[in-house]
Amino acid sequence: MRIAVDLDGVLANSMKTWLKIWYQRTGQLIEFEELTDWFFWRKLNIDEETFIGILNTAWARWIEIPPTEDNIGEKVRRLKILGNVDIVTARPRNTEKYAIRWLNYHRIPFDKYVWTQNSMAKVRLGYDVYIDDSPSMIEVLENTGKVLLLYAQPWNRNIQEKENVKMINNLDEAYSFLREKKSF
Ligand SMILES: [Mg+2]
Repeated sequence: MRIAVDLDGVLANSMKTWLKIWYQRTGQLIEFEELTDWFFWRKLNIDEETFIGILNTAWARWIEIPPTEDNIGEKVRRLKILGNVDIVTARPRNTEKYAIRWLNYHRIPFDKYVWTQNSMAKVRLGYDVYIDDSPSMIEVLENTGKVLLLYAQPWNRNIQEKENVKMINNLDEAYSFLREKKSF
């Protein structure tokens, strides 16, 4: 089983650091739970470039980015029992060195670190399972026979599960689901 694990929003809660930087720059306090829209930043009257710029700053301050779960390295190690685990991310390439440092710091094991352009490019890589927080993955994985485990975040809470789309609240649920799938 080839498993693609997303970085931002699945392993690293980089949006928490994004909000911290936003507060430091603007004085505007936004709670993480308020991020109920993937494109929430449009409501702040900023463009995508600014949004990504702050995300890059967050990654330059990688030590401040919290993992989504305690013992995250252990949880990924458990997934590796079931198959190949690659970190597949579509983040700006210049933050790659910070991402690798972050992964090592949190002792997260993986087979490969794979950089892609976007969701569509992730799908073209042909993994069996995608663990991702982006709602855009639902559409691009439609009729591919691939499984999407959508990692629950405030910005994807209203998603409808489908035959190949399942919501998970944590990586333990991913492990249980995939272990069962594998035994079929
Ligand atoms: Mg993500």
